[in-house]
Formats: sequence, structure tokens, C-alpha cells
Amino acid sequence: MLSGVSACPGLFYTTPAQDGILSRIRIPGGILHSKQLCAIADIADQYGGGYTDVTNRANLQVREIRQDINAEVLQRLQDLGLGARNPAVDNIRNIMASPTAGIDLLELIDTRPFVQGWENYITANARWSGLSAKFSVCFDGGGTVSVCDRLNDITLAAVLVDDQVYFRLCLSIGEKGEPPTDTGILLATDQYLSVLAALADVYLKHTDINSRRKLRFRELLNNLGLDHYLQEVQQCLPFSLCDSRQHKDVIHNISTRNYQHIGIHPQRQPGLFYIGVVLPLGRLETQKMRGLADLAAKYGSGTLRLTPWQNLLLTDIPQGCVTDVADEIVVLGLDCSLSNLNNALVACSGKRGCAASITDTKAHALTLAEYFKTYPVLDRPVNIHFSGCAKSCAQQSKSDIALLGVNLEENNSSGEGYHIYVGDGDNNQKFGRELYRFVTLAELPTSIEQMLQVYRTKRLHPDESFGEFANRYAIADLKHLFASSQNVEANNK
Ligand code: SF4
Repeated sequence: MLSGVSACPGLFYTTPAQDGILSRIRIPGGILHSKQLCAIADIADQYGGGYTDVTNRANLQVREIRQDINAEVLQRLQDLGLGARNPAVDNIRNIMASPTAGIDLLELIDTRPFVQGWENYITANARWSGLSAKFSVCFDGGGTVSVCDRLNDITLAAVLVDDQVYFRLCLSIGEKGEPPTDTGILLATDQYLSVLAALADVYLKHTDINSRRKLRFRELLNNLGLDHYLQEVQQCLPFSLCDSRQHKDVIHNISTRNYQHIGIHPQRQPGLFYIGVVLPLGRLETQKMRGLADLAAKYGSGTLRLTPWQNLLLTDIPQGCVTDVADEIVVLGLDCSLSNLNNALVACSGKRGCAASITDTKAHALTLAEYFKTYPVLDRPVNIHFSGCAKSCAQQSKSDIALLGVNLEENNSSGEGYHIYVGDGDNNQKFGRELYRFVTLAELPTSIEQMLQVYRTKRLHPDESFGEFANRYAIADLKHLFASSQNVEANNK
């Protein structure tokens, strides 16, 4: 195992963290087999902390590793199809795709072969090890579970034009934290590999591959300008990039509602269903990993899918077995309910995993989730994001409610607390608009509870998200609404 050679961990490239060594296992498209999940559980038990974390790129992290994983074990994992066949590229970001690829009722195209094609291509040539470890590619099949808003350098998003499926080329340009921008270019689906290779080639041409801090794709695109970059890409290609700006009105056939994959859903294959399972903050203890692997093998096709929302799908469950599987998920101590606060709860590593963190984000997030088990107020997912510092590693995209860790000593008090932000920010403030400052841990659950209660009574329709609701009000008005709800509650007691 090569330790500490990359800022981004992989199976062969591990990084030190506050709580030990961190190993991240690339799982292209987030799809893995029950045998693979059991093998990773064995590693987590033998070398790590007895659990894994599903990341927001739908791969798995083993944490708290205290000793080197020996070469035979790594070889066994590779034999099971885990980790890149070529260790030199194992640290490059996991390829993202919709977790419902191939089973989504509404998708335009099954993206699994494209994920595998790009994976095979980059692992076949050590030259690609020169790419930034953060070089990220995503495929969206145009179905109900969209990954178009996930942060990736390159997203190929399926669209339908004149009854023909194309990929729309979207690139990361502009401010950090912005979803990929539609370039207006349509690609025939069989052109995807040449175009991705050309985009990567131009990146390598302008990058010092020996630098410890390689340019991010977005930075290079900003430096060169989109038109210049695309001209260089065009020079690498034997065909003309089809500029389809006249097709700007082509809309993806997608739902933008995240977390709707939780619960029981029919697949495009008649008689089969998938079940979206909530994993609190993406954490899976090894006993649960083995339990889920057993369920997948016993009732389904043995396939499990990790999601970029740090949850998991069991797929290919026959209709007659769905209730049994849902019951067994509960026996494992897990849940598949849309109203579970955990299903859209996000937290960065926090104090236990990151020296930069001001607060113990994960513990505070789980305490909040426990509180809402007793006082349930949700009937749809609300995305609450805990961040230990302004870097916002766990979620670059906007959330409904963001909590930024602060030291209360700055407010002449003591201990840890949070600033609370809601909805969209002004001027690209990634945490949204500031609502409250220096909220103590004791105040946090009731503050959030009031906010959620007001949201439920004031939203325009059941599908309006908390963020959309908050965006309709000035901050002063929101404060007034939340304070009034507090007074009504106090008077009713
Ligand atoms: S957001 Fe800050 S505290 Fe959290 S993991 Fe990233 S750097 Fe560490």
C-alpha cells in the first residue's frame, strides 16, 4: 500500500486522517456485488474501525486503518473486481452515474456500459495517472434519479432530440461549487469516449503532472476560456463537435428532486422493484454490510448500488418479496422511509476525522436525527448539511439548511455551536442566507424543529422544498415567522 502519496485516497493511495489511515475504494457507477461488499466488510473489520462510509461520489471509505493492508489482501480485492486494475490511476475520482441506471422507468439510456467503457479506458493506460485526482466524470441517463446537479468536471447528460438520444456536454466552469454548465454541444452516444479522451488530453497538455497541486479542470477551463479549450479539443477529434445551440430548449427528462430514490419503487423490468435504504450519514457497520449483502443475494440479483446521496439501493427484488425485504431491512436497524431525517442529512468528517474542523459535525448531526425520531415533523426529505469549516467538503451544492461550525468563545460563551443558513445564498454564498448566528448545541434541535414546522404549514404545495420555501421570504420575515411559531407553542403549553 502506498501511504500518503495523494491528497485523494484510493485503495492503493491512502491518506492519513485524524482517526487513522483512510482508504477509499473506487466503485464505478456505485454498483457492486454482494461478494464485493462482504470482502470490503472483512477489510473494515480486520484493518479498520469495523464500518465503512458511503461517500458523496458513491464509493466506500474504510477509516481508522492502523496497519498496512498486505499485498495478498489487495490482490484478492482486485481479483473480485475492486480497485483499478492499474493502481497508478486508482486515486482518480470515482465515475458517477445515476444509481438507477438500467432500471429507471423513465431513463433515455442505460449509462452502465459508458461507465465501464471510460473506466476500462483510463485504467488501460498509465498516462492518465497525470490527471488530477479530482478529475471527475459523470453520466446521466435522463431518468427520474438525476445526477446532473452533482459536482463533476464533465457531465454527459442524455437528452432526446428528434427521437434520437444524444449526450449533452456539460463542463465545470466558473465559481467553485457551481454544477456543470451546459456547453450546448450534443454528442452522438458513440462519440463519448473520443470526446472524454480529448478533454483529458487537453487538460494534460496544460498541466504540470509532477506538481503536487495540479490544477483543477475548472481552473484550467477558467484560465483558457471555454471556446479556446473546446477549439483544442476539436483539434484532437476526427469529427466535428456538433454545436447544437439551436437546441437549447431540449430539456432532460429528469426529476430534480433528490432523495426520491428512497423507499420502494418499480423498475423498468416488469415485476421487479428496487428499495432505497437510508444510511445515517452514509455509515454502514460491517454487520449491516453483510446483512444487506445477504438480502441482495437471497432476494435480488446480488447487486447493490451506492448513491451520491450516501444511501444504498437493493435492486431486482420480485414484487412478492418486497414486503419481506423491507421488514428485514428494519431488523438490520435500517430504514427506507422518505420522512427519515437521516435520508438527506449530510456532515463532513468533523473533528474526529479532520484537524480543520471546529465542531464534531457527525456526532451533532446524529444527535439531531435522534431528536427527530421522538418529534417527527417531516413528510419529505429536507437536506440539512453540517460543515466543520467554511470549506464545505461534504456538500458543495446548495442545501435546504446549512450549519457552519463555530467556536462559541467568539461570542463570549463556551463550547461548540453553529451559524444557520437557509436556501440559496446571495453572490454565490455556498451556505445560503444567514438566518441565525452562534446557535448553541442545546438550542439547535428546537430551532430546526420550529423551522420545519413553519415550513410544513406555509409551503405552497407538498413538493415545495424547504429551500424553495425559504427563498420566498426575506430573512427578517423568516425570523418573524419562526419566532411567532415559538410563541404559539409556548402559549399552548
Ligand atoms: S469542511 Fe472543513 S472541517 Fe469539514 S472535512 Fe472539510 S476541511 Fe475538514
